[in-house]
Amino acid sequence: MNRNGRGMNLIISLMLIVLLIFWFSGTLRRMENTVTQEEFDRMLSAGEVSGAMVIQNREVPTGSVQINLENGEDWTLVVTDINPVIDQLKEAGIDPVVRDVQGENVFLTSILPALIMVGGVLLIFMMMNAQNAQANGGGRMMNFGKSRARMSVGGDTKITLGDVAGLKEEKEDLQEIVDFLKDPAKFTKVGARIPKGVLLEGPPGTGKTLLAKAIAGEANVPFFSISGSDFVEMFVGVGASRVRDLFEEAKKNAPCIVFIDEIDAVARRRGTGMGGGHDEREQTLNQMLVEMDGFGVNEGIIVMAATNRVDILDPAILRPGRFDRKISVGLPDVGGREAILKVHAKNKPLGDNVDLKQIAQTTAGFTGADLENLLNEAAIVAAKENRSFISQEDIKAAFVKVGIGTEKKSRIISDKEKKITAYHESGHAILFHVLPDVGPVYSVSIIPTGVGAAGYTMPLPERDEMFMTKGRMKQEIMVSLGGRIAEEIIFDDITTGASSDIKKATQIAKKMVTRYGMSENVGVICYDDDDDEVFIGRDLAHAKAHSELVSGEIDREIRRIIDECYAQAKDLILQHLDVLHKSAQLLLQKEKINRAEFEALFRSGEPEAFFENK
Ligand code: ADP
Ligand code: MG
Ligand code: ZN
Repeated sequence: MNRNGRGMNLIISLMLIVLLIFWFSGTLRRMENTVTQEEFDRMLSAGEVSGAMVIQNREVPTGSVQINLENGEDWTLVVTDINPVIDQLKEAGIDPVVRDVQGENVFLTSILPALIMVGGVLLIFMMMNAQNAQANGGGRMMNFGKSRARMSVGGDTKITLGDVAGLKEEKEDLQEIVDFLKDPAKFTKVGARIPKGVLLEGPPGTGKTLLAKAIAGEANVPFFSISGSDFVEMFVGVGASRVRDLFEEAKKNAPCIVFIDEIDAVARRRGTGMGGGHDEREQTLNQMLVEMDGFGVNEGIIVMAATNRVDILDPAILRPGRFDRKISVGLPDVGGREAILKVHAKNKPLGDNVDLKQIAQTTAGFTGADLENLLNEAAIVAAKENRSFISQEDIKAAFVKVGIGTEKKSRIISDKEKKITAYHESGHAILFHVLPDVGPVYSVSIIPTGVGAAGYTMPLPERDEMFMTKGRMKQEIMVSLGGRIAEEIIFDDITTGASSDIKKATQIAKKMVTRYGMSENVGVICYDDDDDEVFIGRDLAHAKAHSELVSGEIDREIRRIIDECYAQAKDLILQHLDVLHKSAQLLLQKEKINRAEFEALFRSGEPEAFFENK
């Protein structure tokens, strides 16, 4: 404000100076070139005048006479009445050109140019000011690479964690981020280190974007968001400069959240692209990493990113000090679906017969976005029938429509499929629990995941491993086989659902034999010397480093390990058959069970885990 005031003063004084100069120069000019009537008379009588032009002003009876002298000089005579001058000239034999003053008035001659001048000066000043403001308010005059980030200040997003239904664990995990953003000093005072980056991972429509916005809303801090796909179609160098601008802006507004949606579009594993990779993308990613490394831990900027393809991300972004917190946002379970339905039913009048719980039960595999869409379609159905509320039938009609429309995305799972999945996952889970070197179980779920699995069993790695032991590798093979074994025990038939499990078991067994020398018959020789880098064409280019004979030996050895593990694992599951049934039942009922719920199943009267050191 103060600065502005001074600026105005400066402008006004400049205007005055300019006006004065004009006025003076005008007077000076007139003083230099004008002649008095007496001088004119003398010039005329001396015959010095060669020609004259009379300029008359009709409104005011004044005028001026421009006199050209024989010696080339020009003089001006200002008179109040031009007629006597004209007569005088004619008498002297000079025929004057008579002109009307055309706009030859004070305004045009002096004020207008002065105004133009002043206007120009003002304009320059304004431009300089604007430039200044931009220089310290972000961006240049030519902001070609300006970040397309949308900024919204916490207050007006109005989305809070209350708007995010379900996702209980995810919200709990993020609570400390909210606390930090609300009061960074509280954390920095005790020297706590808050994660810089949080990666939200999960299938599309599960509420990742919503969650990020809700964090900003909850903490009431600015929210900068940009989508990875925005970067993709840019000219070389622009992506990187946008990233720079985005972080520059964020630093000025800390504490705040920078949200990078669809980060996989820029943060794909580098060097995997066909033909050398995408330079622009790599530059953008590099800039992002540089920026993230560049600001201190507790500067108050939390970078959040979302992706549904965590598997293709460049491992560099997951390093400590970058996205060191990974939060999986999964498909909602029954309870979550009911809560989401409730949130989205808030502004929709529901008929008395609507049973959201029942709808939640029949929509396994639906994401939050699908459920929102479902209610929206139901509202459309109701509106079409000119009803002012949504009935259960409307939702059923919408369900068919949505279900068919999005068949691929969120297929509706049959009860039989669900049951098989429940036993399959319980098989994995039991082995995780009873085997000493793997697990414990963090959660078991029969909610289909985005990548095509019907369910999952997630262990909670507790120890830091320097190396794998032979025992542990065998246990991992057993765990992988657990799903298939449970299916076999219960259904007397097997499904194709275990293909990736089998692949995993085989890979481990193969490594044991060919890389770690853990087999009895093949010996301590490395037959497998490629690294773990994944890139297209690796397996094609890889030449065999051993004979057919050894190959056969390796295959037999792998087979032997798997068979052994299979038998052992089956034994273990059979010992815990009651847990298998109970776990499957609980899964069918709740769709997702956590560690405590799962472990409680073992305590009801049965002997504890197979290995006592668990
Ligand atoms: P993502 O970013 O994971 O693809 P979004 O956050 O864009 O998903 O979610 C899309 C929409 O789905 C949201 O705007 C919201 O209406 C709805 N939605 C998704 N998950 C939830 C949830 N847990 N609670 C409430 N609404 C949700
Ligand atoms: Mg999103
Ligand atoms: Zn499995």
